[in-house]
Amino acid sequence: SLLLQDKVAIVTGGAGRNGLGYASAKMMAAHGARVAILDLEQADPTAAAAELGPQHIGLVADVTDKASCVAAAGQVLKHLGRIDILLNNAGITQPIKTLDITGANYDAVLDVNLRGTLYMSQAAIPAMREQKSGAIVCISSVSAQRGGGILGGPHYSAAKAGVLGLAKAMAREFGADNIRVNCITPGLIATDINKGKIPEDKRAAILDSIPLGCIGEPDDVAGCVVFLASDLSKYCTGITVDVNGGMLIH
Ligand code: NAD
Repeated sequence: SLLLQDKVAIVTGGAGRNGLGYASAKMMAAHGARVAILDLEQADPTAAAAELGPQHIGLVADVTDKASCVAAAGQVLKHLGRIDILLNNAGITQPIKTLDITGANYDAVLDVNLRGTLYMSQAAIPAMREQKSGAIVCISSVSAQRGGGILGGPHYSAAKAGVLGLAKAMAREFGADNIRVNCITPGLIATDINKGKIPEDKRAAILDSIPLGCIGEPDDVAGCVVFLASDLSKYCTGITVDVNGGMLIH
């Protein structure tokens, strides 16, 4: 049978067709899951879900808003009946240096990446707890591990490092409920977040620093999402899976 047969998955920030969230939603659907794609209104999550097929749903939800997360989780339960998988994928970045980070920059980046991961987890966990099973996958970044990726500022590194700590603490807290919480730390993956933002003169040096010699594709992350969402990883919790072509070997 399929790896995610009868499973219901929520993907935050999942509407962007070139993004890690949509690629993961699509691959989870191919493995049998019914998926709820959550995203901001302007990203049109309903259209994204419709593209995946009629058994999937799209919901407008802003992960920085607790009430919005709780309402979305309620809609998923109403329409799809359960919540087995939560992919905390919504994220934004800003290429700003330490001395230039304003309070507003800090709030924007920390709110989507870190607060959003907390709020959506809080919204999904009660249903998982009741089912006595769940898999939460959080998208952090190599930027958290090496102190800066290539494009994000220090506040982005901090937010993504915060995601690692939050996920590990939740893994500890909810293990007894059979809820697993794991992270993925992508390196440089070709999506809209970095499209056209890699300076041409730096490109060769960047590729030189990646043992596999290429930039990643969204499906490279999606494959690891399916692994962490499925029972293939049923004894893994609190782990971090690096998807970076060897950019950071530690
Ligand atoms: P993306 O910009 O295509 O996707 C981000 C999505 O989040 C968008 O659909 C956006 O509409 C949504 N979003 C933004 N604010 C939101 C909010 N408040 N509520 C709900 N949704 C919101 O970029 P991506 O590269 O696919 O990024 C996905 C995740 O992967 C992010 O967390 C990003 O930080 C992380 N990441 C990406 C890379 C990379 O190289 N692409 C590397 C490491 C980590």
